[in-house]
Amino acid sequence: MIFTVLILVLLWVFQYFFLAGYYRSARIRSVSNTAETLINAYNTGDADFELMRAAFDNSLCIVITDSGGKMLKGENNLGSFSRLLMDAQNDHGYYVLHKLSAELADEGKDQLTKIEKNEYFKSEEIIFCRSFVPEGEEETCYIYIEASVEPIDSTVGIIREQLIYITIILFELAFIITMFISKRLSNPIVNITDTAKKFAGGDFSVEFGQTGKSYQEITELSEVLDKAKDEIGKVNKLRADLIANISHDLRTPLTMVKAYAEMIRDFSGDIPEKRNEHVGIIIDEADRLSNLVSNILELSKLESGNLELNCTEFSLHDKIRDILTRYTLLIEQNGYDIAFESDEDRIIRADADKLDQVLYNFINNAINYSGENKVIRVRQLNREDCTRIEVTDNGKGISKELLPKVFDRYYRGDKVQRDVVGTGLGLSICKEILKKHGFAFGVLSEEGKGSTFWFEIPFEKPHKQSRKSEKAGEEEQIPHEQE
Ligand code: ADP
Repeated sequence: MIFTVLILVLLWVFQYFFLAGYYRSARIRSVSNTAETLINAYNTGDADFELMRAAFDNSLCIVITDSGGKMLKGENNLGSFSRLLMDAQNDHGYYVLHKLSAELADEGKDQLTKIEKNEYFKSEEIIFCRSFVPEGEEETCYIYIEASVEPIDSTVGIIREQLIYITIILFELAFIITMFISKRLSNPIVNITDTAKKFAGGDFSVEFGQTGKSYQEITELSEVLDKAKDEIGKVNKLRADLIANISHDLRTPLTMVKAYAEMIRDFSGDIPEKRNEHVGIIIDEADRLSNLVSNILELSKLESGNLELNCTEFSLHDKIRDILTRYTLLIEQNGYDIAFESDEDRIIRADADKLDQVLYNFINNAINYSGENKVIRVRQLNREDCTRIEVTDNGKGISKELLPKVFDRYYRGDKVQRDVVGTGLGLSICKEILKKHGFAFGVLSEEGKGSTFWFEIPFEKPHKQSRKSEKAGEEEQIPHEQE
């Protein structure tokens, strides 16, 4: 609206108030230019024709005199009331002309413009006078031009009428366009603000995308807000899960510790056999607690990116065999069949302790979830560009829907039994460690048939290694390979 007002003010000022003045100065400029042209024509001997043409085209009365006031050339297209013409016919002869040339000489100028009222025409006139010395001559000559300044009152009247219409139309248009734009622009923003207020109040069911048709930028904004909302929703849920998980996992061992401590106090304190058994349970539960706490700390350290890898080169065979020896007791006592299907040994570069953690986790999970089958295989598959390590069990497997979630924090299968020690953090710790190494990793699983957790250690000559691990780093963006 302000812009429209500005345009209208400019239109009114220029078209209405300044038009007469502008017209007059344009007319003076044109007369002065005509004089210039005519002097040139006089010098080249074309004065007669040019004089006639200029007088005819512009309705002028033109007179060229010598210094004594004698008319050398003249042309009149202004009518019989021309002052110059009447003056030339006057008894006392060339009064106006003489007066002008005398004024010119007095003021030491070579040109003069006067605006006077013509009493016969009742209009304004421009009387222009200029002195010049024709080429090849010494005597000064004068050119006089008389032009009428037509009254433009009627024109101004028409323009004013038109301007009134233009003003009304422009204001209406501006109003309609403003309404339209503001409706399209501000309505969605108002809606987004309302939705955001509801969202800030804790309502996660709101949809920013429902704000109606609008400009692309606003549509994009609402899409981004929807995404942000989903992410915040996830984090919120995760936090709730986390508290539920941690409090559950903390409460149960604490209850056990309390119960068995009370039992020792009230009942088994004096029976060494029973007391030892109960103390053993308390120790186990305390271990479970410290395990949970250290896992939480470890994961937060890994996720905050504060962990530095301490990479060394070591034999893969030695590493896996070393880990498996620790399961000997389990194999002997509980009938597990855990074996290493090796390929040719390779020297790999990784953080040995962290890799231990990953392998332990995969194997422990395989043991925990292998059910009655109890057959677990750790496999080494040498490939040209990498060494693939797989830990396979033939247990209950993981359903298709749950497969993408197993590497998520605090995810635990629905029916994980209490006796299966775990925090739901193991695989997310593995994920962070493998990501940090730049190893590709994933899981293949079929419900009822078992699961294979795998990762691939890049194997290349040192100078190519960094490029390869970058590639593996890209792959890890989709860490859960599902088959
Ligand atoms: P947890 O401490 O519960 O084992 P993890 O992060 O190690 O936590 O594993 C997350 C979940 O993934 C487990 O609760 C389980 O449901 C599922 N899972 C992991 N490994 C296996 C496996 N070998 N077979 C079946 N399910 C598995």
